[in-house]
Amino acid sequence: MTDDQVRPSYDAVVVGAGHNGLTAAAYLARAGLSTLVLERRPVVGGACVTEEIAPGCRASTTSYIASMLRPEVIRDLDLPRHGLRMVPCDPALLVPFLDGTAAPWWSDRERTVRELEKLSPADARTFVRVDDELKTLARYLQPFFLEPPPDVGARGLPGVLEALRVGRRFRGITGGEIGRMVAFLTGSLGDFLDRNYESEKVKTLFLANNVYGKHGGPYSPGTALGLLFHLLSGGEHELQGFYGHVLGGMGSITQAMAAAARGFGAAIRTSAPVARILVSDGRARGVVLEDGSEIRARVVVSNADPKRTFLGLVGERDLPEEFRRAISGIKMDGPCAKVNLVLSEEPRVTAMPPEFRKTERALFTLVPSLEFAERCYGIARSGEIPEELWVDCVVASNVDPSLAPDGRHVMTCFVQYVPYHLNSGTWDEQRELLGDRVVKKIGEYAPNVPRTVVARQVLTPLDLERVYGLTEGNIFHGDLSLEQLFFLRPVAGFARYRTPVAGLYLCGAGAHPGGGVTGAPGHNASRQVLRDWKRRVA
Ligand SMILES: Cc1cc2nc3c(=O)[nH]c(=O)nc-3n(C[C@H](O)[C@H](O)[C@H](O)COP(=O)(O)OP(=O)(O)OC[C@H]3O[C@@H](n4cnc5c(N)ncnc54)[C@H](O)[C@@H]3O)c2cc1C
Repeated sequence: MTDDQVRPSYDAVVVGAGHNGLTAAAYLARAGLSTLVLERRPVVGGACVTEEIAPGCRASTTSYIASMLRPEVIRDLDLPRHGLRMVPCDPALLVPFLDGTAAPWWSDRERTVRELEKLSPADARTFVRVDDELKTLARYLQPFFLEPPPDVGARGLPGVLEALRVGRRFRGITGGEIGRMVAFLTGSLGDFLDRNYESEKVKTLFLANNVYGKHGGPYSPGTALGLLFHLLSGGEHELQGFYGHVLGGMGSITQAMAAAARGFGAAIRTSAPVARILVSDGRARGVVLEDGSEIRARVVVSNADPKRTFLGLVGERDLPEEFRRAISGIKMDGPCAKVNLVLSEEPRVTAMPPEFRKTERALFTLVPSLEFAERCYGIARSGEIPEELWVDCVVASNVDPSLAPDGRHVMTCFVQYVPYHLNSGTWDEQRELLGDRVVKKIGEYAPNVPRTVVARQVLTPLDLERVYGLTEGNIFHGDLSLEQLFFLRPVAGFARYRTPVAGLYLCGAGAHPGGGVTGAPGHNASRQVLRDWKRRVA
């Protein structure tokens, strides 16, 4: 995918064609800026991509479920017209247990309640109360997704206007809700579940989708935040708690975004790694590619993560020392991996209810208990690869048979917790050990899997860094912990997409509101660029 007619200068150059870079480019081009996207890989998509992992078998090699893609972005870029089709995951979640039972979470709440009643009638009642409460609280946070975070540095009139903006978002919030909001933002998921639920299986069901990709076992402070994040609405229909399979894999999202950006006039060049962002007199002036060619631009928008952007692409002398230090301190450091499998048989999970249809058998999460997850994090933190891993499996070909030929099945397996820095050996030496442990774990629940693997792709944190450009393998361009969110993302003082270099902006997951396939940082960054452009400060 190469737009050959690259010119020597543009209004805006976007570094990176991840979904946020493409989103930003589409909005900038739509507003009339001549825009060029430069991607180091031969394909667009970054961590939202579909790739062939064996002849005729395609997989969402990195991200695999669309849960928070902003409905506004879907509409503005008219993604369905460019081929995007999502179907709700139903169940959204299924946790099988070794005793042969399973806990599914259906999109129909009443159906989920009936499932929980089988495990604990008291927990089923609590579920309804807590779900209502969480949905209400999530609605207060929702507007901040597509807005800049609160500007805590604003003074004078701008400060008053900012206080009014933030205050309006919380209009009507009660004292009790404030208390609960603070508890969710700062508390631990494990403590919350222990306080509210009695059945270990019900707790495990919540655990299965709430500490996803984050540092910290379920008893770490700040892990309860996931409960709110997952209830932010997503998908075309703005459903709270939406989980979607993307037909054609996650790459269909970024293919549609690239088509939209091109439709608005943007050019996209792949296999075009940027070596340096040109800065003079404190202003971004363009980029230099690794092949030495120079492209001038009035605005440079970086979709690369903050460490890669500021410690790799911008010269040391062009940034304040304090800013560079703050960027170096961003917590990234793993803690996830991915194993993508091609199987000759559909996985037969022992605990899968026999009446489930093929599409309902498309996902299962292996995470036996809170204590298990806590232990697993502790081991990874000490630099070891845990024997027992938390594995989230999606049999994508059950929903979209076009991903594999007859007789083949594609299953993607998200894995946590694993360290980026190993205590001993290197990830190149330990890659297959990780793959073996993941397949063994799956075999405990789906005994036919180990003998039916015909192809296996293991992506360690180091591979995520090398192949996809994710520094230290962090899937969110920086951990989603409270001290790295809102007005502290990527670092204090620079949470509004601008950087210490005039005309240089950050538009990726390292910026507010953070990681996941949302399109939100790309959307918000483009709005900031356009505001500055109109005021002629960009
Ligand atoms: C294994 C894994 C599983 C995940 N699962 C999910 C999931 O199921 N659901 C979900 O919502 N999210 C998931 N995520 C997270 C989500 O995919 C990311 O947070 C999100 O895609 C980041 O998007 P981005 O556009 O900000 O950055 P990226 O996708 O990282 O894109 C940045 C782009 O910039 C390019 N680039 C970097 N440096 C340069 C340079 N010097 N020159 C040119 N180009 C450059 C990179 O190659 C890349 O294409 C997962 C991520 C991973 C890795």
